[in-house]
Amino acid sequence: MSRVLAVANSKGGVAKTTTAAALATAFRARGRRVLLVDLDPQACLTFALGADLGEDGAPTVVDVLAGRSGVRDAVVVTAEDVHLVPAGIELAGSEAALAGVPDRETVLRRALAEVAGDYDDVVLDCSPSLGLLTVGALTAADEVLVPLAAEMLGHRAVGQLLDTVADVRAHLNPSLVVVGLLPTMVDLRGAHARAVVDDLGPRYDLPVLGPVPRSVRVAEAPARGLSVLGAAGRSSAAQAYRQVADRLLVGR
Ligand code: ADP
Ligand code: MG
Repeated sequence: MSRVLAVANSKGGVAKTTTAAALATAFRARGRRVLLVDLDPQACLTFALGADLGEDGAPTVVDVLAGRSGVRDAVVVTAEDVHLVPAGIELAGSEAALAGVPDRETVLRRALAEVAGDYDDVVLDCSPSLGLLTVGALTAADEVLVPLAAEMLGHRAVGQLLDTVADVRAHLNPSLVVVGLLPTMVDLRGAHARAVVDDLGPRYDLPVLGPVPRSVRVAEAPARGLSVLGAAGRSSAAQAYRQVADRLLVGR
């Protein structure tokens, strides 16, 4: 059975996509069979890792959510040997289309159940919203990791996400675990950033992973079709992501 990890925060620009790609690649480097799913209509993950991979008209996560394709038929393989279900431009419409479907919250969970034996880890890159796509991801997930840009103090967004997690746990997925908060883009030279990071654990009573330092090398990765591990494996950010990945693999 695969472990399903959702990377979620209702705020944009907190490194959800960067984190999903980096952790998936780090898991793969540890010999695990990994599936990434792009659940953001903006398709940043798909463009970063798989823009050139799919043929025109090939199935995407839109088709998976609509029941027109299984996960296996929608998979493309990235340059770093991670399997990816790409987003499609019509994903924004999926949210509306799903609204009319019975058991809409569990569509993704059921689709992933079909490939549970194929993968050790499934990583879901969520959109910056708390709509049906994110609720579906939290319903399909065993664990959720919440990246937040420390300088942005994304506190309100974190609270909203944790409320949604509590709702999903109460109604749809009682075993969902918040595996941790992940401060990203942290300038470790700044005392302020340190203080913010140190405050997170007690404030939310949750594990704090990382932090992932700010690194100019991160921005170069998507243009090369690689995660930060593939593009700048020795950067401070890549090293931090490898440590986070190893921590998430403890006991597996
Ligand atoms: P989200 O998916 O939450 O919207 P992204 O992963 O797309 O966030 O990241 C937002 C921006 O921040 C991107 O331009 C990305 O390159 C940049 N970024 C992410 N992590 C880092 C980091 N550790 N150092 C520097 N820039 C980063
Ligand atoms: Mg993103």
